Order: sequence, then structure tokens, then C-alpha cells
Amino acid sequence: MAAANFDMIVIGAGPGGYVAAIRGAQLGLKVAIVEREHLGGICLNWGCIPTKALLRSAEVFHLMQRAKEFGLKADKISYDLAAVVKRSRKVAAQLSGGIGHLMKKNKITVVMGQATLLASNKVSVKSDKSTEELTAKAIIIATGARARELPGLEADGDRVWTYKHALDPVRMPKRLLVIGSGAIGIEFASFYNTLGADTTVVEVLDRVVPVEDAEISAFAKKQFVKQGMKIMENAMVKKLDRAKGQVTAHIEVNGKVEKLVFDTVISAVGIVGNVEGLGLEALGVKVDRTHVVIDEYCRTGVAGLYAIGDIAGAPWLAHKASHEGVMVAELIAGGHPHPVRPESIAGCTYCAPQIASVGYTEARAKELGYKIKVGRFPFIGNGKAIALGETDGMVKTVFDAATGELLGAHMIGAEVTELIQGYVVGRQLETTEADLMNSVFPHPTLSEMMHESVLDAYDRVIHM
Ligand SMILES: Cc1cc2nc3c(=O)[nH]c(=O)nc-3n(C[C@H](O)[C@H](O)[C@H](O)COP(=O)(O)OP(=O)(O)OC[C@H]3O[C@@H](n4cnc5c(N)ncnc54)[C@H](O)[C@@H]3O)c2cc1C
Repeated sequence: MAAANFDMIVIGAGPGGYVAAIRGAQLGLKVAIVEREHLGGICLNWGCIPTKALLRSAEVFHLMQRAKEFGLKADKISYDLAAVVKRSRKVAAQLSGGIGHLMKKNKITVVMGQATLLASNKVSVKSDKSTEELTAKAIIIATGARARELPGLEADGDRVWTYKHALDPVRMPKRLLVIGSGAIGIEFASFYNTLGADTTVVEVLDRVVPVEDAEISAFAKKQFVKQGMKIMENAMVKKLDRAKGQVTAHIEVNGKVEKLVFDTVISAVGIVGNVEGLGLEALGVKVDRTHVVIDEYCRTGVAGLYAIGDIAGAPWLAHKASHEGVMVAELIAGGHPHPVRPESIAGCTYCAPQIASVGYTEARAKELGYKIKVGRFPFIGNGKAIALGETDGMVKTVFDAATGELLGAHMIGAEVTELIQGYVVGRQLETTEADLMNSVFPHPTLSEMMHESVLDAYDRVIHM
């Protein structure tokens, strides 16, 4: 059978892959997308979206517990975990189904099956029923990543979970250990802790949410401890002894090993790229540990072959994947897109309180040799935050003292994942402190704190 011929083939239908496919089709390319499991990838099925659905249930539950504070009555508040999970799975299925419609609308050929590269312009796709070959002028690898498993800490789905198990749990944990306090670990810690699990978080580095600004990490830790979590920093889980109904974790802190007993462990120690079985080695594609090495335009060094999203390295975020998808599709169609700048990609963590940031931390800006001006504004100084009953949080901004360039913004508190985009746009437009100070922020909004933080950096803060 002759190979079906396309302008562009995308392997993997996560946010990187399906967005690349749509942009390619918009630009008039004949596009095929190959997916072995589910349209929408990890993001829609087992990542961004179902976690946010779970966290929303936890947030509403928490607000119901605070009903009295708002002059409301809610007695005998409880939850049904199975129903919470059912809602989350339904939301994921709705969005995954939506991608199917988008593929149809854009006349993109969807081929379900496992893809292997036979050449830089040829893919074999194996499904249960058949194997077919596709060729194209350009191929985009967007096969994403999966949970990293450390020796001895491997998930078994019963007592030790990855994020997938935690999204569709076999039980409500009573005593929960979360290994790793990056975005994934801390979101699950927040969810289960809010629902009442006695939660311990172990972080090998010296602070929780370690990619964030140190001040934000410290603020977050205080809040988590206030909510009843136990936080162990500079700590390493050396071993898990699994027995019927329980796991004993051997946790090393300051050279001493503590043995703590849990009924459930969530391992959130990072991710590894899905590089296996693709035929990358034979084509001479460079792989560094588990990620494909690319240049700023996502080119692999093999003509016509690109890699985007999680398989192409950090930051492992859906919006980075999809933005790279757009850029590469435009490149393939003959356009001249700008490369994606990792330092302009915001990171959002949806724990309670939420955390969001973009650009350099204060420490990183100093390391890079900038003379800086730093502004801070607390949620307690903002009228809307007080009206919402959300007074725990802060907004921090870091400016280049010489030019007024906004180098970084760091936020913790209610809805900051919605606010951060204001600073992202500012940075994209190369805004300075003067533009931000001259912008009029609507009242009463949480966004006024973004203004005040900038004013504070220049000793002009009003409400503090
Ligand atoms: C629990 C969790 C929560 C997260 N929350 C957020 C969040 O809030 N915000 C955020 O930005 N990011 C979040 N992420 C990260 C986000 O999900 C990823 O960055 C994003 O999905 C990466 O997109 P991608 O297109 O690179 O790959 P993926 O979404 O991983 O998609 C890759 C696809 O390729 C398919 N595939 C792999 N190999 C083959 C093959 N050989 N043949 C055919 N198909 C193949 C896979 O089946 C998969 O569908 C979260 C991740 C997790 C695990």
C-alpha cells in the first residue's frame, strides 16, 4: 500500500501537537496527527484540566466550611470523593472530545496508533488492527512525558501513586506522604489536605516550591503549615517499606533517618520524556537524558524534524508546548516566527494559596548582575481581597534599576494565576515601570495590587 502523503505530520496530540496541527491547517498545510491513546494528551486527560477540576471541588468545600464568616449557614458539610473524581473525569472527557471536533473542523487527518519514525520524512503507525505508513515534508515530535519513577519508590497504584493514580484514587488517603513539592506534588498535597488527609510533604531541596522566588516559598510554607501540612525540607525519602495497608517511609533529614508510617504515598519527583520506541537514535536525533535536544526554533538538527513541548525539555508547561507548536507550524509553512523565550513563560501552581510567576526571581536577577528595585504589596492592603475574605498573599515585582525593565513578578494568593498574565503582556511589550505606573487599574480588583507593587518598588505605594 502506498504511504499517505502530507505536508506536516505531528506525533502526539497533546497541547503541543494539536495546536501545531491546527496552526498548520490554518496556513494551508495538509496535516496528519498521530496519537496512541487520547486526544488532548496529558494536559487535558491526566494533567492540567482534571487537577484543576479536583482543586475547584476542594476550594468550594473549604469555602463551605467558612460559611459562617460570610453570614451563611451550611451544616454537616462533607464530600463524596467518588463524585468529586467523577466530575473531574467528566470535565477531562468533555475537553478531549472537543479536540476531536477541532481536528474535524480543520480537516486534519487523525491516525490513532503508535508512531515510529522510519526516516526523517516517514512515520509508521501501528494500531491493534493494522500498520500504515505516512510521509511528509516535515515531522513534529510532540510525544510529551510521563511521571519519573525513582528506584525503590516506584508506584504500584495501591499504596504508592503517580499523578494518574492520584487523579482517580482507589481510596481517600488518611495519612498521606507527598514526595516532591513542585507544582504537581503541591497541588495534590493541597487537594487531599483540604479534604482532610493528614499530609506530609518531603522536599529534597531547601524549600518548598523551589523554582519560585525564595520569599514566595517561605510565604507558601507558612500557609501550608497553618493548614495542617507537615513540611520536611532538605529531606530525602530513601526507602519505602510496603506492608498490608501501610507504607513506612525512611526519610533522611540532617543525616538522620526518620521512619514515618503512611497509608498512601504520592511520588511527584519529576517527569521523563517519551523518547523510547520512536526511532530517534537511528536518525541521529540527539537526546540528553530523556529530552530531545533542540535549538531556539525547536529544530532537532535532522532536516525537517522538530520537537516541541515536554519532550523538548523545560519548562514543562502546556502553554509552552502549544506556543512552540504555533511557532514550528509557521516555520514549516514558510513564515518567520519569533522563537519562544522561556523566561517570558509564566508558571502557575493551583495549590491554596495559588502561586504564579514570570521572569527572574530576585536572587536570579542579582546573579545575572542586575542592580534591582523590588516592590511588594500584601493582600491585606487590598479592598477586594478583604471583601473576598482572601487576605493571605503578596505581589512582588523586580525591576532593573538602570532601565526600569520589569525583570520578574512573583505572586501568591487568591486568583493570582489569573492575574499574572497582566505582567506577561507587560514584559512582551517591553514595558517599564513608568508604563505600569501610568496604567489605570480598575477598582476594586485584586489587580490593583499589581499596580501597588510597582509603586512600592519606586517608593510611591499608596495603601501601605
Ligand atoms: C498532574 C499534572 C498537572 C499539570 N498541570 C499543569 C498546569 O496546570 N499547567 C500547565 O501548563 N501544565 C501542567 N502540566 C503539564 C502539562 O500537562 C504538560 O506540560 C503538557 O501536557 C505537555 O504537552 P505536550 O503536547 O508536550 O505532551 P502531552 O500532553 O504529554 O501529549 C503527548 C501525547 O503524545 C502521545 N504519544 C506519545 N508517544 C507516542 C507515539 N510514539 N505515538 C503516538 N502518540 C504518542 C501521548 O499519548 C500523548 O497523548 C501538568 C502535568 C501533570 C502531570
